[in-house]
Amino acid sequence: MSKSVTSWDQVFPQLSLNTQVCIQRNIPLSRYTSLRVGGPADYFVCATEIDVLSEIAAASQINGLPLLLLGEGSNVCVSDAGVRGMVVQNACIHSEIGQNTRADSGHNFMRLFLLTMRAELTGLEFAVGIPGSVGGALVSNAGAYRANICDLVRKVEVVESGERKIVGPEWMEFSYRDSRLRRGDGPPAVLLRVWLELKYATKSDIRAKAKDFQIQRLLKQPWQPSAGSFFKNVVSHELAELLPNLPAAMKLAGVVPAAYLSEACGCKGLQIGGAGITHRHANFLVNLGHATSANIRDVAETVKSRVFDRFGVALEEEVLYVGEWS
Ligand SMILES: Cc1cc2nc3c(=O)[nH]c(=O)nc-3n(C[C@H](O)[C@H](O)[C@H](O)COP(=O)(O)OP(=O)(O)OC[C@H]3O[C@@H](n4cnc5c(N)ncnc54)[C@H](O)[C@@H]3O)c2cc1C
Repeated sequence: MSKSVTSWDQVFPQLSLNTQVCIQRNIPLSRYTSLRVGGPADYFVCATEIDVLSEIAAASQINGLPLLLLGEGSNVCVSDAGVRGMVVQNACIHSEIGQNTRADSGHNFMRLFLLTMRAELTGLEFAVGIPGSVGGALVSNAGAYRANICDLVRKVEVVESGERKIVGPEWMEFSYRDSRLRRGDGPPAVLLRVWLELKYATKSDIRAKAKDFQIQRLLKQPWQPSAGSFFKNVVSHELAELLPNLPAAMKLAGVVPAAYLSEACGCKGLQIGGAGITHRHANFLVNLGHATSANIRDVAETVKSRVFDRFGVALEEEVLYVGEWS
């Protein structure tokens, strides 16, 4: 492809015909995000084959054109102004289940757990109740109940700087709810496929563990549209020691839940426009029915400033702001 390309319109004729015919314009992204907010994408395409996803990713990277890959939109807050450039919805959902399970990055994470449970493979029980795609799970190193996806990853297939390649898990630079793909400080890259190592166990044991996780979740999560926990928990032994009423296990681990800090600052019940924090969970920012992305962000900023003023802690978002923000 030519290096002098400056817009997606110039690239389209160079893409395969199948890809070209699927490209749409001005598609509202609110219908593709779990928060149900977000303005339009200039261009939008749904990729159902890995080769198509790879082709679009390479075109974007080689020509320096903006691309946002969406899994199931359950960890993003898209701006009201929307996204300039191309948004690709990842609907590549093939998988091969076994001790070395291979899954396309658009595969639903919970469904992957169900398929592996059926094959008597343990490891993914924590995925129950985590919406989204396998790709999204890897990008934010999704986890729950002291398990994280990074512990299972053996290799990944990516497109980086226009090159399609298979790399080891160290390439992802995983840490708590983070990877190189979240930070955007390296060359742009897209995740195509992942290989996960699982172990055999009895179906009844797997189901019992997953059921326990699911019950815990149902008891504390709000029902309104959200993107899950909005802020990351704070890792600080010093802070944990200072807080009365923090459970002993958390003091020992030096982990302070963002929900604890938000609740201590009276954020439950906070409402700005159509966005707010319910009384059920102080770290879930929810769409109460007519929220804008700006409302969500205003609530988030209010929580951050209250927590900073009271505890001197700068909360870091687990949810990613994407699109054009003024
Ligand atoms: C009710 C609820 C509960 C939740 N509970 C949890 C929980 O317990 N633990 C937890 O960790 N998370 C939780 N989440 C957050 C969210 O579900 C996870 O982060 C999920 O893995 C995101 O996947 P997704 O496909 O929706 O990602 P998206 O929101 O679509 O994308 C997230 C980011 O990843 C990028 N991305 C997605 N796919 C790719 C790819 N293939 N290649 C490169 N970049 C990509 C996107 O561009 C975006 O920047 C919860 C969310 C909700 C709504």
